[in-house]
Amino acid sequence: MPCNHIRETSRWVEEEDWYSGEMVGRWEYNSEYTTVDIDLHRYKCTQCGLVMYYSSAAREYYETGVDRKGLFNRG
Ligand SMILES: [Zn+2]
Repeated sequence: MPCNHIRETSRWVEEEDWYSGEMVGRWEYNSEYTTVDIDLHRYKCTQCGLVMYYSSAAREYYETGVDRKGLFNRG
């Protein structure tokens, strides 16, 4: 199964039922991105390890060392 860089999380939440006064539980589902910034203009998925870039210019810089758009040139 390919990684979609999203993690599904679930937690059990309990709430008091207003009518019966009993605690009623349900699963609450969430999904969150598993990506973290590792550098300027690039980030990585912590699940599959894939490195991704915010732009093609950033990819070019990291792959070839050429900073054509001046992304990393801060004067
Ligand atoms: Zn991934």
